[in-house]
Amino acid sequence: MSGHSCRRMQRVLVQFTRSYSEGGRHYKVVIAGGGTGGCSVGARACRTFGRGNVAIIEPAKHHYYQPMWTLVGAGIKQVENSSALMKDVLPSGCHHYEQRVQEFNPEKNTVILSNGEKLSYDYLVIGLGIQINLNKVEGLIPALKADRNVCTNYVREYVEKTFPAIQDFRGGNAIFTFPNTPIKCAGAPQKIMYLADEYWRKAGVRDKATVMFNTSLGVIFGVKKYAASLMPIVERKGIQLNLRRNLVSVDHSKKTATFELLDSEKGEKITYDYDFLHVAPPMSAPDILKNSTSPIVDASGFLDVNKLTCQHNKFPNIFGVGDCTNIPTAKTAAAIASQNKIVHTGIKEVEAGKQPSGQYDGYTSCPLITGYHHCILAEFGFEGVPLETFPLNQAKERRTMFHMKKDIMPEIYWNMLLKGYWGGPKPYRKIMHLGTGK
Ligand SMILES: Cc1cc2nc3c(=O)[nH]c(=O)nc-3n(C[C@H](O)[C@H](O)[C@H](O)COP(=O)(O)OP(=O)(O)OC[C@H]3O[C@@H](n4cnc5c(N)ncnc54)[C@H](O)[C@@H]3O)c2cc1C
Repeated sequence: MSGHSCRRMQRVLVQFTRSYSEGGRHYKVVIAGGGTGGCSVGARACRTFGRGNVAIIEPAKHHYYQPMWTLVGAGIKQVENSSALMKDVLPSGCHHYEQRVQEFNPEKNTVILSNGEKLSYDYLVIGLGIQINLNKVEGLIPALKADRNVCTNYVREYVEKTFPAIQDFRGGNAIFTFPNTPIKCAGAPQKIMYLADEYWRKAGVRDKATVMFNTSLGVIFGVKKYAASLMPIVERKGIQLNLRRNLVSVDHSKKTATFELLDSEKGEKITYDYDFLHVAPPMSAPDILKNSTSPIVDASGFLDVNKLTCQHNKFPNIFGVGDCTNIPTAKTAAAIASQNKIVHTGIKEVEAGKQPSGQYDGYTSCPLITGYHHCILAEFGFEGVPLETFPLNQAKERRTMFHMKKDIMPEIYWNMLLKGYWGGPKPYRKIMHLGTGK
């Protein structure tokens, strides 16, 4: 099909689907989820389409800057530093529905809310995040509730348990896990381990401890360049790296954690005693997407979008942003920095009868904190290709990068990303590399 007929087809499809919008209050843009992605796209949409033309459906009272939870777990920040009232971060020009989306009807351009209300839209943006499934590890919820030595930085309710558990540790087995599922911020399960290791060294208990990283992966980190820097750190710190192990149960009465050996043909398991256990829990696409009867998701249950444009593969007036999409890159807030701009531009282009021109390169970033003053700033795109901002070797541990993570990134998040003024570091990358030939 030629570019011209493709555009015509796109326009006809959007108009066709629009004319089938029925019932309920109508908006130019409806956004499902007011997290990192929902807020940033929402802010841009409000500026473009004007007050009252954008609705955000978000049930939570608070918005959290989740990347700070690693620092909360290490006692560097308080959870309050990561939190804001939802009403204060949602764009002021949007209508906020404090409900859950209960049903997507993409053929009718409507969504049904948990109170039964129906909204119709010209454009729908889905940013529902990734779902944490604590119940997929037998005994984990009781252990998190009852055992002060079991913690996770991944859940608001439990993140404040981590630092007291680190302080409490007097030696024995300290186990850190990485699940056998998609995950947000794939670096977070090991960042807290390096921080705990340093804390225990200073507290004089490290020589009484066996620190182990039990990961379902076959490598320490999925991007070769940074894995090559992390391995010597693991060795220097004397951490036992146990690959291809997936946590399946916790028995807090016996203080044991059981892992399946993923490469065992006989389905063997191994059980460890623990004195400290930090769990990165199993995650999945949100149930509302996974169980949707309409064809909006792929086989894994994640929203099925074009990885370059974030536009839905079947419904041209639907876009996806962030962790709930099947875009093959690491799920981070940093990735949303690039995606939110692409989504917004794509909506404007479809509105003008054009094809979205987005060329998302998969940009994502993981500040791999390796201690209380050091960090490797991993930045990469599709297939793990490094896409670094600074003209220096970012695979090296640096103090500057630690301050970037601790002090500068939160400012960028609250004041730029959530307000739809941050489209990722691409322009800065260009400036930084002027003259370096990159
Ligand atoms: C411990 C930890 C460390 C991290 N570290 C980093 C880091 O260093 N750097 C980095 O870039 N990223 C990091 N991240 C990842 C980052 O926080 C996420 O990738 C990002 O916030 C995802 O944004 P999102 O909009 O996709 O989802 P979220 O921000 O999770 O938002 C999803 C929203 O959808 C809402 N929702 C859910 N279901 C419904 C429904 N049915 N109807 C309506 N609304 C609904 C939720 O209430 C939520 O507000 C970290 C995350 C964690 C947990």
